[in-house]
Amino acid sequence: MGFRDTALLAALLWPLGAGAAPPPFEHRLTPQPVAERTWMVEGRPEELSEDNGGDIANSAFIVTGHGVLVIDTGSTLAYGHALRAAIAGVTDQPVRWVLNTHHHPDHVFGNGAFPEAEIAALPGTRAAFRRHGEVFRDTLYQRLGDAARGTGLVPASVDLAAGERRFGGYPLRLLALRGHSGSDLAVLDPATGVLFTGDLVFHHRAPTTPHSPGIAVWREDLATLAALDFKVLVPGHGPVARDPGPIAATDAWLAWLHRRLRAGAERGATANQVIDAPLPEAIAAWPLARYELTRSVSHFYADYERRYLWGEPAATTK
Ligand SMILES: [Zn+2]
Repeated sequence: MGFRDTALLAALLWPLGAGAAPPPFEHRLTPQPVAERTWMVEGRPEELSEDNGGDIANSAFIVTGHGVLVIDTGSTLAYGHALRAAIAGVTDQPVRWVLNTHHHPDHVFGNGAFPEAEIAALPGTRAAFRRHGEVFRDTLYQRLGDAARGTGLVPASVDLAAGERRFGGYPLRLLALRGHSGSDLAVLDPATGVLFTGDLVFHHRAPTTPHSPGIAVWREDLATLAALDFKVLVPGHGPVARDPGPIAATDAWLAWLHRRLRAGAERGATANQVIDAPLPEAIAAWPLARYELTRSVSHFYADYERRYLWGEPAATTK
């Protein structure tokens, strides 16, 4: 059966699939220790596919001493169960809290594997998931086929707010930002110096922009993150870092994207020309560079044309 057939079949069957047991997760999840009591599980630098089974985003967890706190749960119920098993290989403390950094499918659809945990997110993330969750789920079934089996809508049920919050006595600093998805949580652990950025920071993978409120907004958030006192950076995608390099690199990508879109609009280039023009070497080296440029052009370019070709106010380019 070809991909299209499988995808069609999965799309037709998803109402059944959403209640079914998940298939075994075929990819081994290996938690990497990144600091004291803190682990990260690194996703692949790829888009969702049947081959990778949705293993594309990072998840992380902190063994607090009062229970485990999980940050992001992956793309599917099967991934969520595999993450749960990986955590059980490290500690016998129960998972008590799940934080969703934002509403994108590769970060939230493993929530169903943690039914006894408090699942929390920013109010804007919860609202966005109410708006987009069903479409995301349907797309997931189309992209992943059987790997998505059993994955249903399990939204966060508790609101988070910016500031310090204690989880069973363990304090974390929460930041409410918005540059990547419209509502983005970053988490700083003052005890270990680990900063969990969600998808505000991509490392060795081109940034995804289709729900961004604007490149300028995102770059302001990166400046906020860069000013924090942290020792270890856990990005939403890509390897852990022990310096602010990935923040600067994400900023450099966004700055380049802005220049490319603006220059294209100013000279009246078509969207296709903006997409197809050669990439600078440093940009081309990022996995998914052309793929994400294409998505960014389709999302942003009409606004850039309004502003830089026609001289009208634009909502997203600032
Ligand atoms: Zn995202």
